[in-house]
Amino acid sequence: MTLRHFCLIGTAFIYMSALPRAVAEEIRHDLVADVSAGRIEADIRKLVGFGTRHTLSETQSDTRGIGAARRWIADEFGRISERCGGCLEVLVIGDTISGERRIPDPTEVVSVLAIQRGTLDPDRMVVMSGDIDSRVSDPLDSTSDSPGANDNASGMAGAIEAARVLSKHQFPGTIVYAGLSGEEQGLFGGAIVARHALESGWRIKAVLNNDMIGNITGIDGVTDNTTARVFSEGTRYVETEEEARTRRFSGGEVDSPSRNIARYVDRMADEFVPNLNVMMIYRLDRFGRGGHHRPFNEVGIPGVRIMETHEHYQRQHQTLRTEDGIEYGDVIEGVNFDYARKLTALNIVSLAGMAAAPPFPADVEISGAVQPSTTLSWTMPSGVMAENLAGYRVYWRLTTEPQWTNSHDVGLVDTYTLENIVIDNYLFGVASVSRDGYESPVVFPGPTGSFGGYGE
Ligand SMILES: [Zn+2]
Repeated sequence: MTLRHFCLIGTAFIYMSALPRAVAEEIRHDLVADVSAGRIEADIRKLVGFGTRHTLSETQSDTRGIGAARRWIADEFGRISERCGGCLEVLVIGDTISGERRIPDPTEVVSVLAIQRGTLDPDRMVVMSGDIDSRVSDPLDSTSDSPGANDNASGMAGAIEAARVLSKHQFPGTIVYAGLSGEEQGLFGGAIVARHALESGWRIKAVLNNDMIGNITGIDGVTDNTTARVFSEGTRYVETEEEARTRRFSGGEVDSPSRNIARYVDRMADEFVPNLNVMMIYRLDRFGRGGHHRPFNEVGIPGVRIMETHEHYQRQHQTLRTEDGIEYGDVIEGVNFDYARKLTALNIVSLAGMAAAPPFPADVEISGAVQPSTTLSWTMPSGVMAENLAGYRVYWRLTTEPQWTNSHDVGLVDTYTLENIVIDNYLFGVASVSRDGYESPVVFPGPTGSFGGYGE
């Protein structure tokens, strides 16, 4: 995508004083228009059609159970890859789990990934994930019908549709489309993939975990197809005691990299997805509940949960039945496909933006105590990965503000001083901007906000 438009931008850039924006915006509007509610519906119906996708369900049948479901997902990624000249690497990552409360006997927990390699920085990755598995009331019931239409065929279908739309373009960074397993049994698939990522030297900068993106009528009686929730941790799970001590004196309780991904996704909704607003929620996940971004956070990989705003518990984790006139079960009738399209589009513009951005600023530091000015510094990447880097944009906001409100383009430098902006009164960060106008998330200084380094 970036390379295709390179010449155009090269000339346009000369006439612009600030960093470029226009081209990146136009392409992302096109991406949103390319997302299909019909294709998402077809994928959800296909997944529901496997009867159950319970992690402990049978794996030999080609028509029923999680084995059939994951083979179909791998095949579908393969078919998408054929249409882009083999641009996706499809791989399965699994491990045997046993002796767990919800996986008592040895069970292969297998996730399916498709990797679209970046042109400039192939080990830098952003991930969109959904879940393959489903469940009913009894978490160990692996044979009853368990459609899991919203939880979580919707997120899985979104990831497949994202692969279809984004694989028509090329990006400097890598995009991973992931179907994770074992979610309902204790977040095992995410943990296995996160460990594989660390062992393989993948530099995952963001996981957008989609878990239930299709229900618009909630147990609270509200029907709403215009908002989505993004959950993110406030401080990093992997923060050391010493880092926490430093943060106590310098701030950063609401500026983990995951939180700044949430802010990024919020901006993408405002700019590119009509009739969709993001409700940023300042907590890891729903009260006392779990999702597949958590195992990534637990090994230091930034990630958020994207989902519907109004959940309906009668259509979640329920054995199909009618009781006192109430129909229980996660059936296809509970999914609004156009809403799933919108949330998928939100993922797509966020993934495109982050994959097309230059390397996210690393080693960001800040100083300015007892001075009239605040100075930010960072290191710059070198070599091929830096080819699309145009410069940096410094951000600041009042400490009570949820979103970055002020910015200043500072060019291709590795330090900048904001004159007469007193460090005590604001929170600060820096983003990288590409030659065609794509921007990284804002990186808050220190280990508190770090997205990691540039690799070798
Ligand atoms: Zn669930």
